Amino acid sequence: MHQDVEQILVTEEELNKIAHRLASQITKDYEGKKLLLIGVLKGSIYFFTDLSRYIDLPCNIDFIHGSGTVSSGKINIIKDVADDLTGFDVLLVEDILDTGNTLKYIHDMLSKRNPESIGVVTLLDKPARRIADIKADYVGTDVPDAFVVGYGLDYDQYYRNLPYIGVLKKSIYEK
Ligand code: 5GP
Repeated sequence: MHQDVEQILVTEEELNKIAHRLASQITKDYEGKKLLLIGVLKGSIYFFTDLSRYIDLPCNIDFIHGSGTVSSGKINIIKDVADDLTGFDVLLVEDILDTGNTLKYIHDMLSKRNPESIGVVTLLDKPARRIADIKADYVGTDVPDAFVVGYGLDYDQYYRNLPYIGVLKKSIYEK
């Protein structure tokens, strides 16, 4: 375990099982649909690549990148997806749903582009912290209200490449 990590919350093996479980559910639910998976950068990348490879359906992939949520709840889009989503059943792929402000903003923005539907899959959910009116259709696992890193999730752009989800020691971000 990395020296800055206090505790492992979700192991590599559990992460793999989650990706398989959600992919098989999505495969059933989206059969016959025009699936477009949209990963929310950068945190979702490892989950996105695992999940998408286990979905046994033809699908398109794309990525959206917004810069940090500000108090107004508005985010700055750095990398966008197509202006017209007509006919696509969009599935947004997130790393973690915390207050929900980021995903709510992206969800509302993409809803205006005429998709057939928009669903949400999140690897981690912190339901206790939710502010925005948004719910994930598929959840990997709930996590307690602690700052977690690894498998795509960062602190100050580091720790993304840890193969598990761990709780970061408070001493690291309270320095
Ligand atoms: P929300 O808008 O739902 O409050 O936050 C979503 C974003 O905040 C996530 O995509 C993630 O980048 C970041 N975030 C929220 N909680 C955590 C956490 O425990 N660890 C890390 N690394 N990022 C988090």
